[in-house]
Amino acid sequence: MAYRLTLEGDGRRHLIYDPATSSLVEQDGDGAQIAHPAFATDGPVSWSVPRRVSPGNPGRKKDVRTLKIQMGFRCNYACAYCNQSSHSHFLGGATEDARRFLDTLDTWFRPGGGEDVRIEFWGGEPFVYWARLRLLGEALRGKFPDAHLNVITNGSLLDDEKADWLIENRVGVQISHDGPAQKHRHPEDILDDPEKRRVIRKLVRAGIAGFGTVLTRWNFSLAAARRHIEEKLELPPGTISHNTEEILLPFDAAALDCVPQGEAEHRAALHTLFREAANGESVPACNSARRKIEDFFASLGQRRPLAALGQKCGMDREDAIAVNLMGEVTTCHNTAADGRHRIGTVADLDGVRLTTAHHHQTRSECRCCPVVQLCKGSCMFLEGAYWQAACDVSFIYNTAMLAASLYYLTGLTLTRIEALDGGFIRRPGRTAAEVIRLAPGGAPS
Ligand code: SF4
Ligand code: SF4
Repeated sequence: MAYRLTLEGDGRRHLIYDPATSSLVEQDGDGAQIAHPAFATDGPVSWSVPRRVSPGNPGRKKDVRTLKIQMGFRCNYACAYCNQSSHSHFLGGATEDARRFLDTLDTWFRPGGGEDVRIEFWGGEPFVYWARLRLLGEALRGKFPDAHLNVITNGSLLDDEKADWLIENRVGVQISHDGPAQKHRHPEDILDDPEKRRVIRKLVRAGIAGFGTVLTRWNFSLAAARRHIEEKLELPPGTISHNTEEILLPFDAAALDCVPQGEAEHRAALHTLFREAANGESVPACNSARRKIEDFFASLGQRRPLAALGQKCGMDREDAIAVNLMGEVTTCHNTAADGRHRIGTVADLDGVRLTTAHHHQTRSECRCCPVVQLCKGSCMFLEGAYWQAACDVSFIYNTAMLAASLYYLTGLTLTRIEALDGGFIRRPGRTAAEVIRLAPGGAPS
């Protein structure tokens, strides 16, 4: 399905964009592809086509190279929004299970060497499980010297012992922090504690710490989040490695209250995200935002077909797996093995069936979405009202990133998207979407 993009500013252009083929051409031009010169490709590119997973066409797991180890859901925090908060704390297994996990690992995880092997340690809060994290981390570093090892934490339990261990074992650490909106997640800001700041600075200087920000209705600014963290840590601007999980995807009723509400907040989010990315305030400093824009440029340069596009998080891939210490395989590291998300065991990897996921091209909204090449279908297992809300906030974030990408390409601002050929945008009846509103001078209002 093709879309007409209106770009305005110092002049006006109409482009025709088709996400199915990544074709972007001038409406009244000669049909030449518009692409970023740094992302042009010579000759045709061959694509592998991922399985369109769905409950009726479940995904499989084999030749695992991305391993997400779910150590348990206990956490020392009770954040206002957390996509794991509803899980039982008793689902993780014990340290003894971690030993058994390592003893049987070779029977199903044989990635060989290589730097593309990725192992992540997840909680709850992983440092609540310090004994099992040490056990697993040291064994896996010994087995896979070149692999990327990472732990995702709220940072509140970090001390010198843990920091030294992380540095020695080359385990990257991603600290969740929402900048000025952190107080809405949890009353305590670890960056107000001088001792925590000292330990975190040590990890930053060792080059193994980064920060991950979730955007909520209380803060849409990636630049403000980065500034907040750097100022509290008394580090120069641009020092930290920063990523975003984009706007919060609501997994329950409490989280629904935390996403932008109504037209005014939606517009504020869209404008803030576009303005910061286009002005260079959030891009390139925010790695994940920069990578999304680069990936969109690559899609244009390579004419990436929609059929080659997997899911946003990659957990639909055959070679990516989430597993707890009892060897139970789950949809992803955010889900527990106590219900429909228990999709098999590593003892019978051939029998694992990802029955909980919906590939974007099996969703009616995503099949008619102008930003699907950027969004890649949001969360693959959400359904019903939570899915609708996740799609809405994903559309805001990714429309802002599309607009920023087009601004880099043309110097003009995306003001409108119209569906062509009787199509619609995500939902029937919506044939056009207003994007960035320009003030009389031509700047975003
Ligand atoms: S914005 Fe919504 S419809 Fe578009 S790709 Fe993302 S989830 Fe699908
Ligand atoms: S399925 Fe993917 S997007 Fe959804 S919660 Fe799991 S990792 Fe996140």
